[in-house]
Amino acid sequence: MILDKGDTPLIFPQFKNEEKMTESEICVKCSGCCRYVSVDIEKPKTKTQIDTYVYYILHRNVQIYIDNDKKWNILFITPCSELLPNGMCNIYETRPQICRDYSATACSRTGKDHTHLFKTPDAMLAYLEEEKKKKKKKTTSSVEAKPKKKK
Ligand code: SF4
Ligand code: SF4
Repeated sequence: MILDKGDTPLIFPQFKNEEKMTESEICVKCSGCCRYVSVDIEKPKTKTQIDTYVYYILHRNVQIYIDNDKKWNILFITPCSELLPNGMCNIYETRPQICRDYSATACSRTGKDHTHLFKTPDAMLAYLEEEKKKKKKKTTSSVEAKPKKKK
């Protein structure tokens, strides 16, 4: 992907001997969570909703993911204005509650926070198509499995 002015790729810093660090030690230094915003959205059910989600993902630095609770989320990859160049928070004492609640055990750095990430409309559409096929197959096999009524 060619980056234009204004692009803010979500890059998690890597550390020396990272494999020897605990999740909490990495979390204190990482600042990855300060580089994006994610918001719950409905699972798309209608063609209009799917079309709207395509429109979202067509925008630069916007992606959609499904989290571990099967909930859909929209992701805006854009850094917080209070994130300092050294990765520290400029308003640490008064930072919002959501910043205090972050946990390394549900970490986007390690991909533990999602099961599917859609960076392009095609990726999301392929997933939805696959889900549709699975649902159809399940419905067909459960109809076939029903015993026929005796006449
Ligand atoms: S939760 Fe994960 S992504 Fe967020 S700051 Fe900690 S290590 Fe980085
Ligand atoms: S307020 Fe501080 S902790 Fe919260 S996202 Fe911004 S830089 Fe990170």
